Amino acid sequence: MLRVAVIGSGPSGVYAAQALAQQSLVPDVRVHVLDRLPCPFGLVRYGVAPDHEKIKSLQNNLRAVLEDERIDFVGNVEVGSPGLGPERLLELYHAVVYCVGAAKDRRLGVPGEDLPGSCSATDFVSWYSAHPDAASNGFALGARSAVVIGVGNVAVDVARILARGADELRPTDVPQAALGALALSRVRDVHMVGRRGPAQAKFTTKELRELGALPSAEALVELADLSLDPAFADPASTAAAALPAVSRRNLEVVRGWSRQPPQGKERRIHLRFFLRPTELLEREGRVAGVRFERTAPDGEGGVRGTGAYEDVEAQLVLRAVGYRGTPLAGLPFDARRGTVPHAGGRVLRDGVPSPGEYVAGWIKRGPTGVIGTNRPCAKETVASLLEDAATLALRPVAADPLAALRESGRRPVTWPGWLAIESAEAALGTTLGRRSVKIPDWEGLLAASRAG
Ligand code: NAP
Repeated sequence: MLRVAVIGSGPSGVYAAQALAQQSLVPDVRVHVLDRLPCPFGLVRYGVAPDHEKIKSLQNNLRAVLEDERIDFVGNVEVGSPGLGPERLLELYHAVVYCVGAAKDRRLGVPGEDLPGSCSATDFVSWYSAHPDAASNGFALGARSAVVIGVGNVAVDVARILARGADELRPTDVPQAALGALALSRVRDVHMVGRRGPAQAKFTTKELRELGALPSAEALVELADLSLDPAFADPASTAAAALPAVSRRNLEVVRGWSRQPPQGKERRIHLRFFLRPTELLEREGRVAGVRFERTAPDGEGGVRGTGAYEDVEAQLVLRAVGYRGTPLAGLPFDARRGTVPHAGGRVLRDGVPSPGEYVAGWIKRGPTGVIGTNRPCAKETVASLLEDAATLALRPVAADPLAALRESGRRPVTWPGWLAIESAEAALGTTLGRRSVKIPDWEGLLAASRAG
């Protein structure tokens, strides 16, 4: 039997487990999918916005994989904690596939970044997703004006959640405390700001369009920003023709908005471009706004500063400038790229493949792509693992890794424990007159898991 540990139960981990279960080269495979949290599904549970029900429903596909008889979910086990590093894992399993994602947010590196009222979008997402490590002290929702820095899909998510009324979020699984805070939110203007132009924005068109179709908020763009972009000014230009299809579609959407008269809705999302943050402004010890430098296209897809500045008032600033991977003790790490060095998914130690160690997902290729991108990524890694399987299987490993984990004082939450958490969340929803509502804290999750 080939025993494999997959570390992380987000999409890349589950797709890796699926690829291992679906292959026929090595018939006798047993996979343990370990996760630090007692709940599976990683960013599908704790990153996909609650109002994106269709993407959330991917959870059903991931669930079917974890229910395969050759695969076991082993939650509440932190790899990298004392006594459970890469070395120990190789005593328990023939192969280990690290699918640990990119958990941290990137920094802006400008003065005022840590003022009260300025937070990372990652923290905000964790809060409305009921991540048990999320900061419990709320966000500055007494703010009337918020700035979201960055124009990727995370920026779109947080801008949309700020712009939705609580009534629109009540039917989702958003935790009760976050729903209550959002119901009291006074935010009326959300400024989502890109340092480059609309043609270089990272959001996808479907997500962008959604901002223009919200019941209680409208999307506004400023012609002065857009006309700096030669591809916007002339859709028939060679600059426009050279753009990827997604950028051309995005330009069409903002072009449409630029022609639309204001609709007078309760909230407004202002899409701004060619503004790079230089400083977060302070008043009475809190963030009061963001100073931006006006940029201009440099003709090569980048921008240059113009020396002109614009201040945007904001009592809440969310930095949505991308995720970054973090090192795992005992595993090599490329600090510049925020990934684990690899060749075809085989972890490289000093440039040489390390037998039995693999990576997949964001920690392998960086925080890019949509959920589906993880499937071919995991398949490539598993193909490498299967090539090595005959040699790997010769190494003696623990007969029962789960028992070994328990003997070392860990209390794994296995599939019945997770099902019990799901039941408790459904029951909580019933009590609150809502659909299933997520439990937001460690204590509650672990207590619920034990009931199973
Ligand atoms: P992202 O797509 O890399 O976008 C980051 C944004 O931050 C870019 O606009 C970037 O501008 C900007 N930025 C970076 N550094 C900056 C700085 N110092 N100052 C100002 N702006 C800065 O990252 P993300 O939004 O976190 O998304 C991560 C991944 O998750 C993406 O692949 C995304 O598609 C995916 N995701 C998908 C969905 C969905 O499908 N619904 C939802 C959420 C996330 P530049 O381009 O100029 O660097």
